[in-house]
Amino acid sequence: MKTSVSIPLDADGYLRRECPNCIRQFKWFSGETDDRPTGTIDPTEYTCPYCGIAAPTSDWWTQEQLDYAVGMAGPAVTQEATSMLKKEIGKINRRSSFIKMEVSSRSAPTPGPMAEPNNMVMKHSPCHGWEPIKVSDDWHAALHCLVCGAQFDHGAQANIAG
Ligand SMILES: [Zn+2]
Ligand SMILES: [Zn+2]
Repeated sequence: MKTSVSIPLDADGYLRRECPNCIRQFKWFSGETDDRPTGTIDPTEYTCPYCGIAAPTSDWWTQEQLDYAVGMAGPAVTQEATSMLKKEIGKINRRSSFIKMEVSSRSAPTPGPMAEPNNMVMKHSPCHGWEPIKVSDDWHAALHCLVCGAQFDHGAQANIAG
Protein backbone atom coordinates (compact mmCIF):
# COMPACT_ATOMS: atom_id res chain seq x y z
CA MET A 1 0.00 0.00 0.00
CA LYS A 2 1.30 3.42 -0.93
CA THR A 3 0.27 6.24 1.30
CA SER A 4 0.66 9.92 0.63
CA VAL A 5 0.34 12.13 3.65
CA SER A 6 -0.28 15.81 3.27
CA ILE A 7 0.86 18.07 6.09
CA PRO A 8 -1.35 21.14 6.02
CA LEU A 9 -0.11 24.70 5.56
CA ASP A 10 -1.82 27.62 7.20
CA ALA A 11 -3.99 30.05 5.23
CA ASP A 12 -0.93 32.10 4.25
CA GLY A 13 1.01 29.08 3.00
CA TYR A 14 3.25 28.62 6.03
CA LEU A 15 4.41 25.25 7.33
CA ARG A 16 4.79 24.69 11.08
CA ARG A 17 8.34 23.79 12.13
CA GLU A 18 9.97 22.71 15.35
CA CYS A 19 13.56 23.49 16.28
CA PRO A 20 15.46 20.26 17.01
CA ASN A 21 17.54 22.16 19.58
CA CYS A 22 15.19 24.33 21.62
CA ILE A 23 11.94 22.55 20.58
CA ARG A 24 10.20 25.88 20.08
CA GLN A 25 7.87 26.15 17.14
CA PHE A 26 7.68 28.67 14.33
CA LYS A 27 6.60 28.54 10.70
CA TRP A 28 8.37 29.12 7.44
CA PHE A 29 6.91 29.87 4.05
CA SER A 30 6.51 26.74 1.99
CA GLY A 31 7.60 27.41 -1.56
CA GLU A 32 9.13 30.49 -3.11
CA THR A 33 8.00 34.04 -2.48
CA ASP A 34 7.75 36.55 -5.32
CA ASP A 35 10.72 38.57 -4.01
CA ARG A 36 13.09 35.64 -4.07
CA PRO A 37 15.99 36.53 -6.43
CA THR A 38 16.16 34.19 -9.40
CA GLY A 39 18.89 31.63 -9.13
CA THR A 40 18.87 31.59 -5.34
CA ILE A 41 20.17 28.28 -4.12
CA ASP A 42 18.56 26.74 -1.06
CA PRO A 43 20.97 26.43 1.85
CA THR A 44 21.71 23.02 3.32
CA GLU A 45 20.74 24.15 6.77
CA TYR A 46 18.48 26.68 8.40
CA THR A 47 18.86 28.65 11.61
CA CYS A 48 16.30 28.63 14.37
CA PRO A 49 14.85 32.15 14.71
CA TYR A 50 14.71 31.76 18.50
CA CYS A 51 17.92 30.07 19.66
CA GLY A 52 20.07 30.81 16.60
CA ILE A 53 21.33 27.24 16.23
CA ALA A 54 21.45 25.84 12.70
CA ALA A 55 20.24 22.37 11.69
CA PRO A 56 19.92 20.50 8.38
CA THR A 57 16.90 21.55 6.35
CA SER A 58 15.18 18.21 6.90
CA ASP A 59 15.35 18.27 10.71
CA TRP A 60 12.44 20.55 11.43
CA TRP A 61 9.37 18.32 11.51
CA THR A 62 7.20 18.81 14.56
CA GLN A 63 6.37 15.87 16.76
CA GLU A 64 2.73 16.21 15.69
CA GLN A 65 3.66 16.00 12.01
CA LEU A 66 5.80 12.90 12.57
CA ASP A 67 3.13 11.26 14.69
CA TYR A 68 0.53 12.11 12.10
CA ALA A 69 2.57 10.61 9.26
CA VAL A 70 3.25 7.49 11.27
CA GLY A 71 -0.39 7.32 12.31
CA MET A 72 -1.38 7.35 8.64
CA ALA A 73 0.71 4.25 8.17
CA GLY A 74 -1.58 2.50 10.57
CA PRO A 75 -1.17 0.74 13.90
CA ALA A 76 -0.01 -2.45 12.17
CA VAL A 77 3.41 -0.88 11.79
CA THR A 78 5.83 -2.19 14.35
CA GLN A 79 7.87 -0.06 16.71
CA GLU A 80 11.00 -0.72 14.68
CA ALA A 81 9.32 0.26 11.44
CA THR A 82 8.02 3.38 13.13
CA SER A 83 11.47 4.68 13.99
CA MET A 84 12.71 3.85 10.48
CA LEU A 85 9.76 5.66 9.04
CA LYS A 86 10.48 8.72 11.14
CA LYS A 87 14.02 8.75 9.85
CA GLU A 88 12.79 8.56 6.24
CA ILE A 89 10.30 11.33 6.82
CA GLY A 90 13.11 13.45 8.18
CA LYS A 91 14.92 13.33 4.85
CA ILE A 92 12.10 14.95 2.97
CA ASN A 93 12.86 18.28 1.42
CA ARG A 94 11.61 21.42 3.10
CA ARG A 95 9.93 22.67 -0.05
CA SER A 96 7.46 19.88 0.13
CA SER A 97 4.50 19.69 2.41
CA PHE A 98 3.76 16.19 1.17
CA ILE A 99 5.14 13.10 2.75
CA LYS A 100 5.14 10.09 0.50
CA MET A 101 5.80 6.75 2.03
CA GLU A 102 5.53 3.16 1.04
CA VAL A 103 4.35 0.99 3.86
CA SER A 104 2.83 -2.41 4.11
CA SER A 105 0.04 -2.41 6.59
CA ARG A 106 -3.37 -3.91 6.83
CA SER A 107 -6.36 -1.71 6.34
CA ALA A 108 -6.25 0.45 9.40
CA PRO A 109 -8.25 3.41 10.59
CA THR A 110 -6.43 6.55 9.58
CA PRO A 111 -6.42 9.73 11.63
CA GLY A 112 -8.56 12.64 10.52
CA PRO A 113 -6.93 15.47 8.60
CA MET A 114 -4.56 17.73 10.50
CA ALA A 115 -5.48 21.36 10.84
CA GLU A 116 -3.08 24.29 10.84
CA PRO A 117 -4.46 27.43 12.51
CA ASN A 118 -3.49 30.72 10.95
CA ASN A 119 -1.68 32.02 14.02
CA MET A 120 1.75 33.53 14.82
CA VAL A 121 3.24 36.79 13.55
CA MET A 122 4.88 37.18 10.15
CA LYS A 123 8.48 38.48 10.18
CA HIS A 124 10.94 39.35 7.43
CA SER A 125 14.65 39.49 8.17
CA PRO A 126 16.40 42.57 6.71
CA CYS A 127 19.02 40.38 4.98
CA HIS A 128 16.87 37.56 3.57
CA GLY A 129 13.42 39.09 3.41
CA TRP A 130 12.28 36.66 0.77
CA GLU A 131 12.32 33.85 3.34
CA PRO A 132 9.64 35.09 5.72
CA ILE A 133 8.83 33.28 8.93
CA LYS A 134 6.06 33.36 11.48
CA VAL A 135 6.98 33.39 15.12
CA SER A 136 5.12 33.13 18.37
CA ASP A 137 3.49 36.45 19.21
CA ASP A 138 4.82 36.39 22.75
CA TRP A 139 8.45 36.29 21.60
CA HIS A 140 9.94 39.74 22.12
CA ALA A 141 13.68 39.06 22.03
CA ALA A 142 15.75 39.42 18.88
CA LEU A 143 15.25 36.89 16.10
CA HIS A 144 17.71 35.09 13.86
CA CYS A 145 17.48 35.03 10.08
CA LEU A 146 16.38 31.59 8.89
CA VAL A 147 18.88 31.63 6.04
CA CYS A 148 22.09 33.18 7.41
CA GLY A 149 21.50 33.24 11.16
CA ALA A 150 22.09 36.99 11.49
CA GLN A 151 20.36 38.46 14.49
CA PHE A 152 17.80 41.16 13.86
CA ASP A 153 15.54 43.29 15.96
CA HIS A 154 11.97 42.81 14.89
CA GLY A 155 10.67 45.71 16.95
CA ALA A 156 7.85 45.74 19.43
CA GLN A 157 4.38 45.38 18.02
CA ALA A 158 3.73 49.09 18.74
CA ASN A 159 1.43 48.00 21.48
CA ILE A 160 2.85 50.12 24.28
CA ALA A 161 -0.50 50.68 25.97
CA GLY A 162 -1.06 46.96 26.23
ZN1 LIG B 1 15.84 26.75 18.47
ZN1 LIG C 1 19.86 36.57 6.45
